[in-house]
Amino acid sequence: VASKLILVSTLTLSAGGLVAYSESESDIGCPGGVVDQNENRKKRVVVLGTGWAGTSFLKDLDSSKYDVQVVSPRNYFAFTPLLPSVTCGTVEARSIVEPIRKIIKKRNGEVQFFEAECVKIDASNKKIMCRSNIDNNLVGNDEFSLEYDYLVIAIGSQVNTFNTPGVIENCHFLKEVEDAQKIRRSVIDCFEKTILPGLSEEERRANLHFVVVGGGPTGVEFSAELHDFLEEDLYKLYPGVKDLVKITVIQSGDHILNTFDERISSFAEMKFARDGIHVQTGCRVVSVSDKEITMKVKSTGETCSVPHGLVVWSTGIGTRPVVRDFMEQIGQGKRRILATDEWLRVKGCENVYAIGDCATIDQRKIMEDIAAIFEAADEDKSGFLTVGELRAVLDDIIIRYPQFDLYLKSKHLADVTDLLKDSEGNERKEVDIEGFGLVLSHVDSQMKSLPATAQVAAQQGSYLSRCFNRRDHFEKNPEGPRRFKGSGHHVFRPFQYKHFGQFAPLGGEQAAAELPGDWVSMGHSTQWLWYSVYASKQVSWRTRVLVVSDWTRKFIFGRDSSGI
Ligand code: FAD
Repeated sequence: VASKLILVSTLTLSAGGLVAYSESESDIGCPGGVVDQNENRKKRVVVLGTGWAGTSFLKDLDSSKYDVQVVSPRNYFAFTPLLPSVTCGTVEARSIVEPIRKIIKKRNGEVQFFEAECVKIDASNKKIMCRSNIDNNLVGNDEFSLEYDYLVIAIGSQVNTFNTPGVIENCHFLKEVEDAQKIRRSVIDCFEKTILPGLSEEERRANLHFVVVGGGPTGVEFSAELHDFLEEDLYKLYPGVKDLVKITVIQSGDHILNTFDERISSFAEMKFARDGIHVQTGCRVVSVSDKEITMKVKSTGETCSVPHGLVVWSTGIGTRPVVRDFMEQIGQGKRRILATDEWLRVKGCENVYAIGDCATIDQRKIMEDIAAIFEAADEDKSGFLTVGELRAVLDDIIIRYPQFDLYLKSKHLADVTDLLKDSEGNERKEVDIEGFGLVLSHVDSQMKSLPATAQVAAQQGSYLSRCFNRRDHFEKNPEGPRRFKGSGHHVFRPFQYKHFGQFAPLGGEQAAAELPGDWVSMGHSTQWLWYSVYASKQVSWRTRVLVVSDWTRKFIFGRDSSGI
């Protein structure tokens, strides 16, 4: 079981499926090999970002075939799933980061890295503009541009504040390593502030009211970590203020962890209730000041304000300005998030790929294609297919869009089976296409966008690097080993996401896990599974040893509560 539990997909994880290129768009998919015939030079691949997607791409890319340049404002990879542990000192910040130069040095070809931020993508001139963000840049050349043959955008996302007034100024976020370090210092400061002389009880309570906005996995994990930090370490050092402390989780939906199985969601709510973590559901935050947080109760429309000492904002993700500007240039301005096709190519733009949190695969065309497959199969236009015909249609869909296989098998198999059988359980001779269309539209709504997780980002990076590695091979064998039935455009498989499940650590050495096939596990043993999976998924032996020794140190000596 443990070996299958690759919840946070690794940088070494194989995404499965073959490499994909389009016959009809051969210039995009398989553009004349890796060497530019005119200039007799290697083609240049510019990669933006050194997060899960970018690093996974770089790690697997055969860089001897390309001139590879990487641009990112941070020169390290951060293992984000352990950021909540950094906020309370369970794990040290340095234990979860690995210098990007170490990761890319292993490649047989040279990879150049520039610590800078891409500020503009000029798709028509195949150029990007960058700015170095290193302080005291004495050389003065802090702006530069790079030309590319292929661009891989992997710059992740930014925090989404929903334009709520006061959030940027008064809330903490939990996206970067620096954010986690800042939260750690602020929590200790709240305690130190509270025991200063001359404060009223009301002020002390306010200082020790920790508010978490967002009841998703990050908000829940942070609340659980904070609760453990207080119970296991801080109450021993600040015993006089224990009764004044409160943790509140504000969630706009009806339940916390609402993307998880219901059993996990209610287990988490019960555990939080037992631990004294106050969960306020059905509330939307309307503003945050340095002293108060104001929210609206969705059912009654009433607003109320509560004083706070620290607010952590964790409500989802938004598009970075540089990507937004790029979307305007390529006619995607009306979309919320950058769209790619299933081959991860940015729509409306040649030789640009986007992977990870900054993009989403546009599913609309897939559903149109599927509707066309059904229409073609229903030769007599009766609205019915024989069971044999339906099975052939399903096979066809799954070959073209393997991601349906997972969903049909895991979530909708019962619905499909129901359609294939009559009320007495006998197999039908014919199946109503409309009924089947309903099942597919359910599947479609679930597939609309892949979750913004490390698991997806790493699989996309790995998939895309294999596409790049085999470009020359496909140049020599344009027909490829696998052709879809009929005259489908694509010779090879599109990106196929494999979901390995997800974890939710809930504090008190307990965790919940949701695995494919509706398998749910909760409690202390799941926490040990979490430890083993997260240790095994570290990007290097160095970070693995550091993380495990941090956990051991915490068990023996507790967490460090000095405010540095
Ligand atoms: P990122 O990893 O965010 O990387 C983006 C990269 O782009 C960074 O290197 C950044 O410096 C760089 N960049 C930013 N702007 C620019 C620019 N202008 N130019 C060039 N480079 C730029 N997922 C899971 O699967 N499991 C988990 O348990 C989990 N836990 C999480 C816990 C927390 C606290 C957080 C914040 C996220 C968690 N995630 C988890 C989600 C996961 O971290 C993201 O889905 C993943 O990081 C997305 O990878 P990415 O490469 O798209 O973006």
